[in-house]
Amino acid sequence: MDLSAGTQLVAIPGPSVIPEAVRIAMSSPMPNIYAGDLLECADRVLERLPAIARTAARAFIATSNGHGAWELAVQNVLAPGDRVLVVETGRFAVLWGEYAERVGATVDTLTADLGQPVGAEALSAHLDMVDEDYAAVLVSHTDTMTSVRNDVSEIRRALDACGSTALLMADCIASLGCEPYLMDDWGVDVTVSASQKGLMCPPGLGIVWADERAIETYRGRAGSPATSYFDWGPRLEPRGFYDTFSGTPPVAHIRALDVALDLIDNEGGLDAVWARHEVIAAAVRAAVEAWSTPDGIGFVAAEGFRSNAVTTVSTGVIDATALRQRCEHRGGLTLGIGMTTHPDQSFRIGHMGMVSPPMILGTLGVIEAGLRSMNAPIGQSGVAAASEVLATALAQ
Ligand SMILES: *Cc1c(COP(=O)(O)O)cnc(C)c1O
Repeated sequence: MDLSAGTQLVAIPGPSVIPEAVRIAMSSPMPNIYAGDLLECADRVLERLPAIARTAARAFIATSNGHGAWELAVQNVLAPGDRVLVVETGRFAVLWGEYAERVGATVDTLTADLGQPVGAEALSAHLDMVDEDYAAVLVSHTDTMTSVRNDVSEIRRALDACGSTALLMADCIASLGCEPYLMDDWGVDVTVSASQKGLMCPPGLGIVWADERAIETYRGRAGSPATSYFDWGPRLEPRGFYDTFSGTPPVAHIRALDVALDLIDNEGGLDAVWARHEVIAAAVRAAVEAWSTPDGIGFVAAEGFRSNAVTTVSTGVIDATALRQRCEHRGGLTLGIGMTTHPDQSFRIGHMGMVSPPMILGTLGVIEAGLRSMNAPIGQSGVAAASEVLATALAQ
């Protein structure tokens, strides 16, 4: 029976659910782009962005998705002939590495076992083995395919211990605004993110934070970036507002992000937002744990390295595609497609951005009902386990 009338809840790992206030902010008429409110709004956004990555580094914005942010990063610090190391724990760092290759860099890849992060030991062993230092190391903080969260500060320590001067570049598209991320404390030189995940806006803004070392690298590199639009130059020294965005600003998105940053402030700041994500993610993990059986539901990411933004659920003998379709077409819940192995063997739950207890209990409840409707083997009630986690948090 189809019970999906009403608003479909989309719980994929990005784009995330857009808060009402953000949606309303986007619908205002277009302003003058050379003077007035929009300039103040853009200034507020640019002033507040460093704090979101916990850095003093300035942020550059491109009118793009996350792939554009990748471009906005690699085009400016890499040059033909550079050697780059991609630290792979799923898919996204490898795809980013392909962008580095297009710049002319030679890319090596260090791949972790499925579900594991790349640890300091493996990285140190690899660095000892290669005879030439890397220009940059590319890593996904949270890999959205496996839902593994890497320890970025450990990667920096391993680089330092080996005497590497590589720029550390982190893809925080899935993690920013969801998981603790301390760009400066962790020694990251370039952070890349986008508007549509933890930042609660529609896709359309690619954001890059570049520290002094990265900007020095930009200034010292041979030649200009291959594309004018993605060149940091005009953004670094804008002759006017127009340069800051390399053309007409993405007006609706800038307004949206301003309101989204207000929502973060109003919740009690980034620490409060991280704490909520931690509880919501713990509820999801408790549910998956309760459902799990030896040949059915399980985790892809190893314990201790599970993201607070997305959970990849392996389904063993259960047909994940059939489950997703039942949830989507009859249950009113859209889940993320599994990318880990065969699409029938996993699915993903996005819990990034403005996710509340009723949203997550609803999500887990529909998954559980879907599993039961298929007579799928499950251990215990995941909903009961998740509500225990929420109860503990509510009591605090
Ligand atoms: C979503 C995502 C991307 C891709 O972002 P797009 O906006 O689709 O280009 C890249 N890296 C990670 C870690 C992501 O989660």
